[in-house]
Amino acid sequence: MAKKQFKTESKKLMDLMINSIYTNKEIFLRELISNASDAIDKLYFKSLTDSTVGISKDDFGILITLDKDARTIKVSDNGIGMTRDELENNLGTIARSGSLDFKNENNTDDKIDIIGQFGVGFYSAFMVASKVTVVSRAFGSDEAYLWESSGADGYTISETTKDSLGTEITMTLKPDSDDENYSEFLEEYRISGIIKKYSDYVRYPIRMYREKTREKERPADAGEDYTPEYETYTELETVNSMIPLWKRQAKDVTDEEYFGFYKDKFMDYSDPAKVIHTSAEGAISYNALMFIPSRAPYDYYTREYEKGLQLYTSGVMIMDKCADLLPDHFSFVKGVVDSQDLSLNISREMLQQDRQLGIIRRNLEKKIKNELKSMLTADRDKYEEFWKNFGRQIKFGCYNSFGQNSDLLKDLLIFWSAKENKMITLDEYVTAMGSEQKYIYYAAGDTAERLAKLPAARTVLDKGCDLLLLSEDVDEFCLQVLREYNEKQFKNINSGDLELETEDEKKAADKASEESKDLLDAVRKALDGKVKDVRISTRLKEHPVCITADGPLSIEMEKILASMPGDDKPVSDKVLELNANHPVFEKLKTADPDKLKKYAGILYNQARIIEGLPIEDPVEYTKDVCDLF
Ligand code: ADP
Repeated sequence: MAKKQFKTESKKLMDLMINSIYTNKEIFLRELISNASDAIDKLYFKSLTDSTVGISKDDFGILITLDKDARTIKVSDNGIGMTRDELENNLGTIARSGSLDFKNENNTDDKIDIIGQFGVGFYSAFMVASKVTVVSRAFGSDEAYLWESSGADGYTISETTKDSLGTEITMTLKPDSDDENYSEFLEEYRISGIIKKYSDYVRYPIRMYREKTREKERPADAGEDYTPEYETYTELETVNSMIPLWKRQAKDVTDEEYFGFYKDKFMDYSDPAKVIHTSAEGAISYNALMFIPSRAPYDYYTREYEKGLQLYTSGVMIMDKCADLLPDHFSFVKGVVDSQDLSLNISREMLQQDRQLGIIRRNLEKKIKNELKSMLTADRDKYEEFWKNFGRQIKFGCYNSFGQNSDLLKDLLIFWSAKENKMITLDEYVTAMGSEQKYIYYAAGDTAERLAKLPAARTVLDKGCDLLLLSEDVDEFCLQVLREYNEKQFKNINSGDLELETEDEKKAADKASEESKDLLDAVRKALDGKVKDVRISTRLKEHPVCITADGPLSIEMEKILASMPGDDKPVSDKVLELNANHPVFEKLKTADPDKLKKYAGILYNQARIIEGLPIEDPVEYTKDVCDLF
């Protein structure tokens, strides 16, 4: 019989499959099962209007048969089948092959990606098989045909017989080599594992004969010392569970089912903190089942962590971690998205896929945000627990990409309130503040305890204003990107004018500044460029001195940037503030120029210590202090 040649592009794809270095060869089964399921779909829909089909819904199914001696795997379905022409056209050509761009032929990475994500259908059988035969009988025909190919050199089609409708694909596995073990695909546990992994939710039963052991029936006279005897038998078993949890109505699913599914699928031993089960219908339809873990995975804040949701299309898994479905700020979410609007094969435009994924992502993002928001309102303890795990990521999200997502995320932020002694939202801060208060005050540093003791913290609290204590390095960057909340700007209590003083206090400070102009000038000169300015403070009560920042970069941010790798660290513009009501100030007024220089240096370094900044020259500082005795 004359061999027919594959169409050029098919031949190329075939070569690619035969010589595939793609390691995930197991997906061939997913592809064939998916084709079988499509074929059954077609016949099933026909059966709804055409009584001659003669198969009832419950009889549809896919059968996988393994034969170790013959080294074959058989995938049989009772679907619509293929006529001779269809065998010729469908298996001799790649359907709608236009979208497979073979011009990039040298870029194997691209191709591997295509195989991995969307598969290449029937041809993937050649990744594991040296010979593939397809026997098919189409609905409406009594004739059956045999398609056969041993690779890229062509295929034959001949007439054969087949009792029932449908298609039977037999793959003869390639021999094992040093690098590849194909025989593993003859093992029941391996094949059933692959079915569970990729095709668990195909809606027709996928059956396999499985070898089992049972005890033989005991003879009637078996006594106490009878040793049981065993025998093996085969049983036809359905491997896939068919109806995925996410396709069921949320009201019909118990927490146990959700939790079990989550722990099983995402390898966590704790129940999730939150289950989000949602679906959409319309321009793009999908079902999504998402989970917020109750603990951050150990590698969550490392580069190793990979975000993403599992992507299914019509019950078939096409991607394990689809990163495009999750924004970075919600990268902790685990889950599954199933959309029949995405196609398993690559024949549709990739761009189109991207657009659809984009729509789903935006919907899911909104959904996750709303769920978190309602947790924040309804169950604050639970939310605080969530915040301990993932708050940092939300704050990162706020300031990343120039604050592009800050509007979405700002209402999810909580910070420690020095006045309330608990975590509060920005909205709660603003709602509680007096009408004359201009700013949302905050202090940033390593611990809330230390921050609460800052001289300026007392001043703010004494004025009756609340103060947010920010103890994580990202906090201040996050607020800086936000700039304001409900038209109230954020104000670091150690930067610039707090605008807390009354008119009288202001006047007094201005007067003191005027009177001490020469002294302040002298201190500034003595510090020799270390500070931009020396001023009379309005934020000091008991302490003699403090350092504040003038300009956008705060002292805390300077510290954080200094701890990061790289040269050329930015420094903040510092201002030394003196307390005009402190005895030390009187001393300064009467000090001779030499003493004044020393005092200035000591006070400057003390202010640095209070701020948690290093002393520039500890030896000289110690000497200067000792000279005071
Ligand atoms: P795709 O499924 O992406 O269209 P394939 O190469 O996997 O590409 O299959 C090509 C075509 O062959 C299918 O579109 C279908 O029409 C036909 N086909 C494949 N497997 C079967 C099957 N088991 N039963 C009926 N038709 C099939």
